[in-house]
Amino acid sequence: AKNDGRATYAFYSQELTTCARQRVELIAALRQALEHGELRVHYQPIHDLRSGQMVSAEALVRWQHPERGLVLPDEFIPVAEENGLIGAIDLWVLEQACRQMRSWLEAGQTPGLVAVNISTRLFGRGGLDLQVADILARTGLDARHLELEITESAVMDDPDSARRQLQRLRDLGVRLAIDDFGTGHSSLQRLKSMPVDKLKIDRGFVAGLPADGKDVAIARSVIVLAHSLGLTVLAEGIEQSEQADFLRRNHCHLGQGYLFGRPQPAEELFRAAAVLPAK
Ligand code: C2E
Ligand code: CA
Ligand code: CA
Ligand code: CA
Repeated sequence: AKNDGRATYAFYSQELTTCARQRVELIAALRQALEHGELRVHYQPIHDLRSGQMVSAEALVRWQHPERGLVLPDEFIPVAEENGLIGAIDLWVLEQACRQMRSWLEAGQTPGLVAVNISTRLFGRGGLDLQVADILARTGLDARHLELEITESAVMDDPDSARRQLQRLRDLGVRLAIDDFGTGHSSLQRLKSMPVDKLKIDRGFVAGLPADGKDVAIARSVIVLAHSLGLTVLAEGIEQSEQADFLRRNHCHLGQGYLFGRPQPAEELFRAAAVLPAK
């Protein structure tokens, strides 16, 4: 197999070879990072757009690299997803987030909801409900304080299997959100039958609000869609108050973005996230 590998390499350009080697090195380093405790979880506040209250927080992974400093997920999640290491990362983040939520609750901190990202790979593997149940039991967190974010493409690629998997998760009592909504290919028929609680409008559609006519049309129709299906709707990537104003006027329930707060270490979340003025 070693010789085969070399033979294949010979077909690639120098650039691709370097790239492949870098990828292998990155995976090895990431595996070590997971074992040696170099991964961190940051939390980004999510606010009710009407009351201004913080209602939940999303857990986002970071890599505290000994030489490179804080590395953002876009640099390692795609490779981890390709290689399968993402499953272990997601479960690690999930456990940290459940532990953190538990200690927030014990300290009397509200809100009482933490959202965790589940990769397509982990979701597609099946048996996630058992792993989640195990982590909840181990951390002593009540399921109602946990929300799982599953991307639209993970849900819609194999809708029948996804529906069963979502239902098993929901039976545990956790909440479910469809992440990056608008970037996949949902049919309304399928969406209607999915046992989920929330739609997260991808930040790509929030960026152009309120000036870009197409973003306005898309954001409005996702909000209307969510309301008519009885789902909560959240817009991510809100950076400007004009965007928040537009979304609030159009009855979007929740907002997340730099305007409200950046992802930050758990200790800093409550210090920074003051209640915003209600409108
Ligand atoms: P996502 O799930 O869509 O998370 C939102 C991303 O938008 C985060 O990037 C967040 O920092 C960023 N963001 C929030 N507000 C704003 C804003 O106002 N402006 C801009 N420009 N960006 C904003 P981050 O933390 O770099 O994560 C990127 C992606 O990596 C996430 O996108 C998610 O797909 C993935 N990811 C992060 N943590 C995990 C994890 O634990 N497991 C898995 N499977 N994926 C993760
Ligand atoms: Ca997310
Ligand atoms: Ca998202
Ligand atoms: Ca996104």
